[in-house]
Amino acid sequence: MSQGFERDARIQFSQQDCELETLAVRAGQQRTGEGEHGDPIFTTSSFVFSSAREAAARFGGEEPGNIYSRFTNPTVRAFEQRIAALEGGERAVATASGMAAILSLGLALMKTGDHVVCSRSVFGSTVALFDRYFSRAGISTTFVDPTDLSAWSAAIRPETRLLFLETPSNPLAELTDIAAVAEIAHAQGALLVVDNCFLTPILQRPLDLGADIVMHSATKYLDGQGRCIGGVLVGRDKEMEDVFGFIRTGGSCMSPFNAWVFLKGLETLPLRMRAQSENAMAMALWLQQQPGIRKVYYSGLPDHPQYALACRQQQGFGGVLSFEVEGDRDAAWRFIDATEVVSITGNLGDVKTTITHPDTTTHGRMTAEEKEKAGIRPNLIRLSVGLEALSDLQTDMLRGLAAL
Ligand SMILES: *Cc1c(COP(=O)(O)O)cnc(C)c1O
Repeated sequence: MSQGFERDARIQFSQQDCELETLAVRAGQQRTGEGEHGDPIFTTSSFVFSSAREAAARFGGEEPGNIYSRFTNPTVRAFEQRIAALEGGERAVATASGMAAILSLGLALMKTGDHVVCSRSVFGSTVALFDRYFSRAGISTTFVDPTDLSAWSAAIRPETRLLFLETPSNPLAELTDIAAVAEIAHAQGALLVVDNCFLTPILQRPLDLGADIVMHSATKYLDGQGRCIGGVLVGRDKEMEDVFGFIRTGGSCMSPFNAWVFLKGLETLPLRMRAQSENAMAMALWLQQQPGIRKVYYSGLPDHPQYALACRQQQGFGGVLSFEVEGDRDAAWRFIDATEVVSITGNLGDVKTTITHPDTTTHGRMTAEEKEKAGIRPNLIRLSVGLEALSDLQTDMLRGLAAL
C-alpha cells in the first residue's frame, strides 16, 4: 500500500457472499505489515511522502493515497467500508456527528432555490437545521405527515431536490413506506434520504427499498455503548463523492479514535439489535397489560396501525418504545423519578436502558401547537430498552407505576 504496508491477502474475501454477521466483524479491515489481529487506530493528523515528487502527485490528485486526516484516514476508512457493506451501499462518508452528516449532505447536494420535503416526525435538531438554517441559504422545506403518501406527493415542487424521513419515528413509532416515497422522489428526479438510526441495517435496509442515501447518527446503536458522537452517510459513489468533497473542505469529518470505537460497536451490532428488540417487544406487550398505562407505541404490536408495513419493510421492530401513563406531566415525572435501574437521559440505542420525558426534553423546543399536532403529550414516556434482564426492567417499571 501507499504507506509502505503490505496488504494481508487473506482479508480480501468476497463480501458479496457474506451475511451481515460476517460483514459486521470483518468488512473494511486492511492489516498493516505488522500482522495485527485487532483494528489499529491511526492517530495521525498528516501523512508523510517518500519524496517531494510524491507529495506533489498526491496533492494534485494524480496519485491516490493519504495526505491529511481531514481528507482520509485509514481507521475512518475502515469504519466507512464496514457500514457501507452492512447497508449495501457503494460508498460511505463518516462525519463528526449525525447532525454534521445532514448538514454536509445539504450543503454538498443543494443550492439556493432548492426545496426539501421532510417528515414532520424527525429528530428535533433535524427540523431546526432545515427550518432555521438551510432556509437562510434560500433552501426551503415543507414538513409533511410521514404516514400520508398523498401529503408527500402534494408537497413536491419542480425545485424539490431532497426528501428526508426517519422510520420508525421518535418517539411515537410512526412508519413511512420507504419504497412508495422513493417512487415519489424519483418521479421528480429528487433523492430520498432515510435516517436509519432506530433500526440500523440489521433490521432495515433502506437502499434495498429504493432510498438513495442512508444517514446515521453513529452515536446511537452503531456505537451502542454511549461513548462517542459520530455520523455517517451511505449511498452511490456519485453523490458520496460530492459529500466527501464538501467534508474534506468543510471539515465536518470523523475523528479516527471515534471511528475505531464505532468499528468495535459494529462487531456486536447484529447481536445487540436482536437482543434489544426482543427485550423491547416483551416489554411493550407487558406494559399493555399494566393498569396505569394508557397506550403503548411500538411498531411490533399487532394493533399498531401500520403493523403490516412494519412486517414488510423491517426485519425487526427495534429497541425503542414509548407509552402514555394515566395522568399528566406530574404523573410522568413521578413515574420516571421512581425508577432505580434505568438511566434518566436523552440518549438512546445504548445497552443501558434509558428513560426520557420527550415533552420537556427532546421535544421541549416545540410549541404547544406543534406538540399537539405531533402527538407529544405531557404523559408520554420514551424507553430505549437495553440489555438488562427483562425481569429487572419490569420491576423498575412497577416502581414507576406505583408512583402514579
Ligand atoms: C441523535 C439523532 C440524530 C443526531 O445525531 P447526533 O449524533 O446527536 O448529531 C439524528 N437523527 C436521529 C434519529 C437521532 O436519534
